[in-house]
Amino acid sequence: MNKRVAIVTGGGSGIGRAISIQLAKAGAKVAVWDLNASNAEETVATIKSAGGNAIACVGDASDEVAIDASLQATREQLGPVDILVNNAAISDFCPFLEISHETLDRMIRINLRGPYILTQKVVPDMLAKKWGRIVNISSSSAQGGSTGMTHYGATKGGIVGLTKTLAIEFADKGITVNHVPPGFVDTPMLRASPVDVDAFALHTPMKRAGKPEEVAAACVYLASEEAAYVTGQTLSVNGGRYLQ
Ligand code: NAD
Repeated sequence: MNKRVAIVTGGGSGIGRAISIQLAKAGAKVAVWDLNASNAEETVATIKSAGGNAIACVGDASDEVAIDASLQATREQLGPVDILVNNAAISDFCPFLEISHETLDRMIRINLRGPYILTQKVVPDMLAKKWGRIVNISSSSAQGGSTGMTHYGATKGGIVGLTKTLAIEFADKGITVNHVPPGFVDTPMLRASPVDVDAFALHTPMKRAGKPEEVAAACVYLASEEAAYVTGQTLSVNGGRYLQ
């Protein structure tokens, strides 16, 4: 992946941070996009201290103006984009009948509309190079359902549909599009949820939560040269919690 330019949204925490670090270790120049400036800078510092190349782009990855600004900074400082990891998302637990339309709209904007718009803006770089890798982070909630997460699950189901339809449209253009649904991975998002992580872990087949690095490894494979003939696919990382 030497000198490939990658964008990782939500690269300041959890899974996105692990993906950013592993892509940089594999030789990519990484633009770490996040709402949280200090977290994004921390990811960049970790990459640089290991000899890698990264920049932080702070902004809302679902806001068109912020996307344009971060994309301009990425292109100017690192070059045209080869690899896009749509990872930033929010989650929430609420009974279906109590979810307000404002909450639903925010969830759709950040988890689905944001990745859709960003991908539209990045694909021209990939078309020009006749090479591109798009990895979308979906969720086991879109595969097997999840209590109290109808709005979240619906957006992640949208990500699955986006992945498959994009994969077909760009299959003969050197661009692959795949998705990685994590399930029960120990990150700040999971710890902020009402789930008792340690107790729930005992009910999973592997009797433990996943590590962000284990999701990152799947993403690095899908972003690699070797994965050139893999598109439109699902690479689940969930410790056997959901079997396809
Ligand atoms: P996290 O909350 O630890 O990290 C998410 C990061 O995204 C944060 O740094 C946050 O600031 C950033 N972010 C959120 N909204 C943003 C926006 N609009 N613009 C820019 N940055 C934004 O979460 P995580 O657990 O690492 O989740 C990463 C991905 O994995 C998400 O897509 C999530 O839905 C998915 N996922 C996680 C799990 C799990 O068990 N942790 C399970 C299934 C799916």
